[in-house]
Amino acid sequence: MNEEYKPLSGRDFPRFSGIKTFFRLPIADIQAKFDVALFGIPYDGGVSYRPGARFAPSLVRELSSLGRGFHMSRGVSVFDKLNIADIGDCSVVPIDQVQTYEKIEKFVSQVLSTNKKFISVGGDHSTTLPILRALKKKYNTALNLIHFDAHLDTYPAAWGCEYHHGAFARHAVEEGLVNPASLLQIGIRGPLAAGSDLDFVNKHKITIKTVDDIRSGSLTDFLKTLPVFKGPTFITFDIDCLDPAFAPGTGTPVPGGLTTYETQRILRALKIENLVGADIVEICPAYDPTQITGLAGVDTMFELLCLMAAS
Ligand code: MN
Ligand code: MN
Repeated sequence: MNEEYKPLSGRDFPRFSGIKTFFRLPIADIQAKFDVALFGIPYDGGVSYRPGARFAPSLVRELSSLGRGFHMSRGVSVFDKLNIADIGDCSVVPIDQVQTYEKIEKFVSQVLSTNKKFISVGGDHSTTLPILRALKKKYNTALNLIHFDAHLDTYPAAWGCEYHHGAFARHAVEEGLVNPASLLQIGIRGPLAAGSDLDFVNKHKITIKTVDDIRSGSLTDFLKTLPVFKGPTFITFDIDCLDPAFAPGTGTPVPGGLTTYETQRILRALKIENLVGADIVEICPAYDPTQITGLAGVDTMFELLCLMAAS
């Protein structure tokens, strides 16, 4: 284990001090030798409603000062198990989606070329598509996708534009980046624009776990219904899977969502043989002066790191 990749000690430097990186980890070069790269993708040019997710990476870095490394129920000390570093932000062009997609795909490909795993903080959900394009090229197979969201994100073009935050999952299936048979959507709920919104998921037999599915019996019984994921798997966590009471700071909030605790329990129960990467998207700091949305993002990042340590 390399001492270089430990978080800054809260004894030597209290948690309100120091330069803000994810979990107070060191900043490292993309080419350096470590296990998991953390980075931001500060782009929100794909939103259909409230913008501002471009400010999420800096907020999550700041709030992650409170992040700690020992997972109580797993009994695992994640920063002892994995060498993790902050590699900064992916470069973006705030007024050009085509250029931004190219930059994201190239950046993620660089991370993958050094055989690292990664967790990124978006950004709106449109940023997940170029990540999946890079992963498909690296692994040369359609990935398993675990997709936490209030929304299906399989919607058609909006205002004549194909690529927006509500369409990434449709493109991922249509481009063959993910296998619809192993695409699991968690936290989905209405209202929808129309019943035909479900046509795409029905046609491709995508598995949906709605909030009703999760809440109708005991949580423990629900967790037993989760499948085992073999082969390269990606988790995309749209913060609006949470109820607006737990995550008000997001672009398109939907009432009747999951609690932070329910998502923790689901993340702890997932059985994934090879979790190759994950992202957390749609945190929109300006709509949440309490910062609980960002804190939920930090906590999710920690659960994802622990999942990676276990997979
Ligand atoms: Mn989404
Ligand atoms: Mn959403």
